[in-house]
Amino acid sequence: MSHPVELHSLTKTYGERTVVDRVSFHVGQGEIVGFLGPNGAGKTTTLRMIAGYLAPTSGQVTVAGHDVISSPTESAAAVGYAPERPALYESFDVLGYLHFVARAKRVRRADTASQLDRVVSACRLEAVARSEVYKLSKGYRQRLGLAQALLGQPEVLLLDEPTSGLDPGQISETREVIRSFGHDHSVLLSTHILPEVTLLCDRIAILHHGQLLAIDSPAGLATAVGRANRVELQVAACELSDLKERLFDVSGVIRVDVDDRQDPYTVNCAVDSSGNVEAAIARVVTSDWDLLGLRRHDPSLEDVFLHYVEGAA
Ligand code: ATP
Repeated sequence: MSHPVELHSLTKTYGERTVVDRVSFHVGQGEIVGFLGPNGAGKTTTLRMIAGYLAPTSGQVTVAGHDVISSPTESAAAVGYAPERPALYESFDVLGYLHFVARAKRVRRADTASQLDRVVSACRLEAVARSEVYKLSKGYRQRLGLAQALLGQPEVLLLDEPTSGLDPGQISETREVIRSFGHDHSVLLSTHILPEVTLLCDRIAILHHGQLLAIDSPAGLATAVGRANRVELQVAACELSDLKERLFDVSGVIRVDVDDRQDPYTVNCAVDSSGNVEAAIARVVTSDWDLLGLRRHDPSLEDVFLHYVEGAA
């Protein structure tokens, strides 16, 4: 059986420039996949090709089993797309606008009222239901963009930077909204905000210069860059070369950096992710020196992201 979204070697070129380069991955049923990448990585271009707004140069996209090129009507009906800056009709009020979108999406008249209720409540728009669109705050505009994407109960949701430009209160409200309906759909969510993907997503796809560098669960990505694990020690001032040499001899220690400008010294050991290397480090240090502190740092998503993006550079 096919996945709700499948990309096979999807490519987009503008003249000489390839902005999406043979990208292949899928989004599973009920899955939220985060789409992470620096500015210009090709995230929006990819989302627009999946939504059927932009023709691929080569490769294939299927949505709910329908090829976006050969079955555009069927695939478009299965997608709700919330662009980064939703084009909203300013003079409508919120309900009037959603009513208009429901007509355009051919929601059955008998189902329209219940669907409007559902999306207004899912996106917490009740308080502004009768406000004109031009009066809405940025947070409400983003959520109206999400609401229009949800109309028609599409199997697949494409969300392009849904929290960009919002204040912290609006960001957490909007995340709550996405979390509440996310798993009822298959979601591809583009963002720059690393904590956002950790909070919302089952898997993360990292795109850079149009190429897919990695796709895995947050834990899987962290394991894959296990070399970013490190153990930080505080050691009372001592003979540095001895300390470094002994630490290097510990199995699993890859690199040792010491900041000896203050007593105690701060020692950073890059370690592999396997085994309990910190116990071995503690044994070695305490046998000859005063160990005043020890802390293991597992790679953050930021470390993971930089590992891939800087590695590709
Ligand atoms: P951001 O995070 O800044 O929104 P993005 O990852 O969504 O970036 P895209 O908007 O997909 O990136 O752009 C990818 C690249 O394609 C950029 O270098 C952009 O300038 C280029 N690009 C986009 N549309 C066109 C176009 N119509 N003609 C030429 N180049 C384009």
